[in-house]
Amino acid sequence: MTPALLELIVVILLPVAAFSGWYAGRRGGALQSGRRVSRLSKTYFRGLNYLLNEQPDKAIELFLQLAEADKDTIETQFSLGYLFRRRGEVDRAIRLHQSLISRPGLSEEQKKYAALELGEDYMRAGLLDRAETLFTDLVQMDVSVPQALRHLISIYQAERDWDKAIGHARSFQDATGEPMGALIAQFHCELAEQARLQGEHDTARARIADAYAADPYSTRAGILEGQIELAANNDAAAIRAFERVARQDVDYLPEVIKPLLGAYQRGQDTSRARAFLAEMIEHYPGFAPVQALSRILHDEEGVDVARRFLSRQVRQRPSVRGQAALIELSLDSPDEAIGTLVALKQISEQLLVRSPAYRCGRCGFGARAHHWQCPSCKNWGMIKPQYNLLGE
Ligand SMILES: [Zn+2]
Repeated sequence: MTPALLELIVVILLPVAAFSGWYAGRRGGALQSGRRVSRLSKTYFRGLNYLLNEQPDKAIELFLQLAEADKDTIETQFSLGYLFRRRGEVDRAIRLHQSLISRPGLSEEQKKYAALELGEDYMRAGLLDRAETLFTDLVQMDVSVPQALRHLISIYQAERDWDKAIGHARSFQDATGEPMGALIAQFHCELAEQARLQGEHDTARARIADAYAADPYSTRAGILEGQIELAANNDAAAIRAFERVARQDVDYLPEVIKPLLGAYQRGQDTSRARAFLAEMIEHYPGFAPVQALSRILHDEEGVDVARRFLSRQVRQRPSVRGQAALIELSLDSPDEAIGTLVALKQISEQLLVRSPAYRCGRCGFGARAHHWQCPSCKNWGMIKPQYNLLGE
């Protein structure tokens, strides 16, 4: 079942569960309530069945009929409003929820729910101003604060109003205890980026400090700091910032290695470059730091040292890029051609062993041997030979 269908089931059944207590109370006699609930649940289960059979249109049709025929019952009204919104009939959803809010006799819980639903209708209709006013009122009245704040945060993100997004994310954190530091740091980085693009380096530095205060491990703040210091010709500070990014999250090494190498080169600090690249080779499985270090070795110690280093490294982490770099270096020292060919053959064999020769066209499962039935998604006849650079 798709997540969207599951969500539909949960939302359609939720009001029934939430308000069944209130419903039984309002209807009085247990007998009458029981009879109505059983008729309701019969239809609900028929709808549910459509949903389980992945026929959401039929299910929605059924729930709509049910809710239209049962206008007095609040929980079916909530289902109806949800269904209108889901089908894109946002105006009908808005009218329905507006009339629910002004209907006398609703419990606080129901009013809250109706207001939140109306806010979502406004957002869906693109009426962000109205949604903002409504959710802000809810927060000020101390009603449904976390949900309202969550919606407000996404409204301010859509409007790129980062100061308000930051303020509301802080309030959400205070109200729920859920840590929001990483998100708040992203918002500060948006402000830093704006300042950087306008050449206001000091403002950008202040925003970056705010981002670090919200999230001391912010990778984005580190990258921005490096870019700003580079633009201000502070290579030493840029190097510190970029090195810190790669040490905090080595996956971002490819994002910072190019400016970093440029800064090392301008400062002619190859010993620092060599130490840092050697450290990265320990932690990063890709080719970028190996390539950078082999270039420095080439310049400083000659082609043979560089070629031996590269040959050893690429055998440990075989890649097509590595092969290309090794071939390129070997063209400079043709005397070693046989040794290089042996190394290249070993690297090619490892690449072929590691790469699946067959792949499932349905789920993407990779296999070394052919299977008529996919071991992963169990579909038949979907696994075929691959036609890429490592396959057939
Ligand atoms: Zn499959």
